[in-house]
Amino acid sequence: MTTHISPDSPDNQLLDLTQHEIQALRTRFNLADAHTHQQQSDSQREIVARLPELWYEAERGLQATAEERFIEAFFTLHRQDTALAKKKTLLSYAASISTMVAGMYLKQQRKSVTLVEPCFDNLYDVLNNMGVPMYPIEESALHDPDRIYSELKRLVRTDALFLVDPNNPTGFTLLQHGRKGFEEVVRFCKDHNKLLVIDFCFASFTLYDEKLARFDIYELLESSGISYLAIEDTGKTWPVQDAKAAMITASDDIREDVYNLHTSVLLNVSPFVLNMLTQYVQDSTRDQLSSVREVLTQNREAIRKAIDGTILEYQEPVAGVSVAWARINHPDLTATELQRLLAEAEVYVLPGRFFYWSQPDRGEAFVRFALARDPQVFSDAMARMREVLDRHAV
Ligand SMILES: *Cc1c(COP(=O)(O)O)cnc(C)c1O
Repeated sequence: MTTHISPDSPDNQLLDLTQHEIQALRTRFNLADAHTHQQQSDSQREIVARLPELWYEAERGLQATAEERFIEAFFTLHRQDTALAKKKTLLSYAASISTMVAGMYLKQQRKSVTLVEPCFDNLYDVLNNMGVPMYPIEESALHDPDRIYSELKRLVRTDALFLVDPNNPTGFTLLQHGRKGFEEVVRFCKDHNKLLVIDFCFASFTLYDEKLARFDIYELLESSGISYLAIEDTGKTWPVQDAKAAMITASDDIREDVYNLHTSVLLNVSPFVLNMLTQYVQDSTRDQLSSVREVLTQNREAIRKAIDGTILEYQEPVAGVSVAWARINHPDLTATELQRLLAEAEVYVLPGRFFYWSQPDRGEAFVRFALARDPQVFSDAMARMREVLDRHAV
């Protein structure tokens, strides 16, 4: 399969990040999608060896048991005792399905949304395709906890506020300064009667990080009395070939409406997948997520070194998420152009313009790299990329 995309071919007219990611799946060095492509750790390999047993166990057991065990394992790892105790989390096959349910609720209630920018374009696209009116808020409005409240008050004109924490692609999290960031967001939503929607798909990357104490965020949400929807995911954390599960939890006031929309979409997630994922989650609780984090740390170091002294400037994330974000310091090389040059060298990265869903041109200064890759493959990709970057030194 050729990976060269000629400027004249219709292939060049890729309309979203997923279309890029599909191209990248045909490319030797795919650093596009943030799905997990690394190999199994030793203890994960033991889970794979037990798959037939997990299959038959799921076949024999009750669906409800598989669900309860999975949710208990997940929220235990994430230290979300309140979410665990409330027992009202709904499961789905993928975070996008949970986001669609949130979108259906927003549409049904005729709510407009303020969505963070930059963010993964899938969120904007799903909500937009459901007819939800959206307005951007720059992520930088959330950076200083002393200014969050006034910034939100100044900028949010909609019924709902939709945040991604940690953010994809930047790795920014409100946990940067302890509890205060989330507290200020919640205080604003309370005082101004806003529905808070939070995408926590990258939250596992804040765990076991001494700088980021992930507290019981559901306790804050529940005790505040605000309306909220919180989405959680497994897909970006464990190398399980996209056999993933996601979750959505709603505040009590909107829970019934959300439940009724959820049951219009699905009955249940495969008990086998839940049973298998439970093993991965428990394994990560035992090894404090080290098998997940080590691959990312290694590849983060590799990219830092590979782009040092080039036109790319590594953007230090607050949380060690599974993607790296870099600024292009070049007078006229855009992200679109750099993406094309790297794809010619069989290294597929994502151009920043799609992450800036309201102002794509602002994203032309950035590119994103996926880190959840086998370190040897990643290091070969870095060597290839360095050759291209050296040819475009300024
Ligand atoms: C990948 C991702 C999603 C969507 O997950 P799917 O498994 O593709 O449905 C949603 N939110 C964030 C922050 C993501 O990174």
